[in-house]
Amino acid sequence: MPEQAPRVRAGNFDEVPLGYTEELVLRESSRCLQCKKPTCVPGCPVSVDIPGFIRLLLEKKPVEAAELIKRTNCLPAVCGRVCPQEVQCEVACILTRKGPPVAIGHLERYAADTAARLETRKQRPRPALNGKRIAVVGSGPAGLTCAGDLAKLGYAVTVFEAFHQPGGVLVYGIPEFRLPKEIVWREISELTDLGVEIQLNHIVGRTDTLDDLLGPKGFDAAFVGVGAGLPLFLNIPGESLGGVYTANEYLTRANLMRAYRFPEYDTPIIRGESVCVIGGGNVAMDAARTALRLGAKKVMLLYRRSRAELPARAEETHHAEEEGVEFHLLVGPVEFLGDERGMVREVVCQEMQLGEPDASGRRRPTPIPGSRVTYPTDLVILSLGTSAHPLLTASTPGLNVNKWQYIQAGETGRTSKERVWAGGDIVTGSATVILAMGAGRKAAQDIHEFLSKSDASWTRTAS
Ligand code: FAD
Ligand code: SF4
Repeated sequence: MPEQAPRVRAGNFDEVPLGYTEELVLRESSRCLQCKKPTCVPGCPVSVDIPGFIRLLLEKKPVEAAELIKRTNCLPAVCGRVCPQEVQCEVACILTRKGPPVAIGHLERYAADTAARLETRKQRPRPALNGKRIAVVGSGPAGLTCAGDLAKLGYAVTVFEAFHQPGGVLVYGIPEFRLPKEIVWREISELTDLGVEIQLNHIVGRTDTLDDLLGPKGFDAAFVGVGAGLPLFLNIPGESLGGVYTANEYLTRANLMRAYRFPEYDTPIIRGESVCVIGGGNVAMDAARTALRLGAKKVMLLYRRSRAELPARAEETHHAEEEGVEFHLLVGPVEFLGDERGMVREVVCQEMQLGEPDASGRRRPTPIPGSRVTYPTDLVILSLGTSAHPLLTASTPGLNVNKWQYIQAGETGRTSKERVWAGGDIVTGSATVILAMGAGRKAAQDIHEFLSKSDASWTRTAS
């Protein structure tokens, strides 16, 4: 897919890939063999009819192609942009036996975007209500998918969201240049058209509790999709200095508080001239590339293992490098030093070497005794991963969690608490958009099955 040139895009927040032309779509669609037993479909956690929508694109019917995708995926323009297709549908495409797979994600993006452009927004008839009410906690991909599927089945669904904007990580985490917020809101508005109500600035566990929703507020069932947004820290000296952010806070200020639209929005955020990002995952790449766009002269990514172990997608690493992010490998921070104003000015690291593989299967980094390397900086962004926030679970008696505070749920999302389902990152730990959506779908089907039977008893499936 054509892209903005690296030097140009590092100075703006516009989307990096420019999208397919019709000519490219026809060429790429014609590579699909229209397999009778398509191996790509089981690779998709929401079972999109991949050969079906590609055939419609080949017939120059993008609106129909998008309709077909939306039968099982309510966020096709989002997924076409951010799904790791290389480990899902595309890796399973039969063409990989001889060469590159069909670019399923790029085609999905084209179908969704073109349909949105061509379609005059028609108000679809809302499904007749069946009299039952569902509370969905969290408006990330898990919650939105569950809400949409249940609304289509006639449930009155209310989504409760802690933030002032819906979308979860799609809006506060993933930067504008990878996923424009307009696209997320466009897909969310299709859900509100279906009748899904979204209550913002509503923290379940603080504004009210899950038991309030299921009791006095009269909801018949609840789905919990609150994500895993509690940042992890290094616990080393100097971590509380000014100018040390977690990636969560930094990206939220940049995205949700719209620092990327300066001077229209004068968001309080430290921009930094010499920025150190600690970590090597996709979130670290997003933070590093955001820092460049917010005006940093130098962005250094400090990672304690070698290049081979970088957890980020190859495409993200490549994009970051092309834009000028420097990779400093095999270094582990031991201390942050500050100036007289309490602002960070230096990251002190030890050099590392790799030993035997650890539990994650990656070679364990161990410090080289006596080594020391320093990086002058005025902004540090910690991107070390996240864990479960205990606010909702701690205020919900009977909702079992595991030792990492993630909710224990069975195959279809049933939890230990009657009439409560859960899915997405709050069950699996940090994962992907499409896996969260898949969990939302399964839970919606099971909620419908449970509430449709008058004699249904609560049995939790294996966790
Ligand atoms: P979330 O998206 O985290 O949504 C949970 C929502 O619940 C949030 O809006 C939160 O405010 C709300 N909430 C929390 N607690 C409460 C409460 N008590 N009451 C009410 N509301 C509450 N995945 C990909 O597939 N591709 C990518 O490119 C990708 N990039 C990423 C980049 C970043 C920076 C990050 C952080 C993650 C990325 N991921 C990516 C991972 C992906 O975004 C998550 O796996 C996915 O969003 C999880 O969805 P979810 O619905 O479980 O939770
Ligand atoms: Fe087309 Fe590949 Fe799916 Fe076969 S496996 S239907 S070639 S996308």
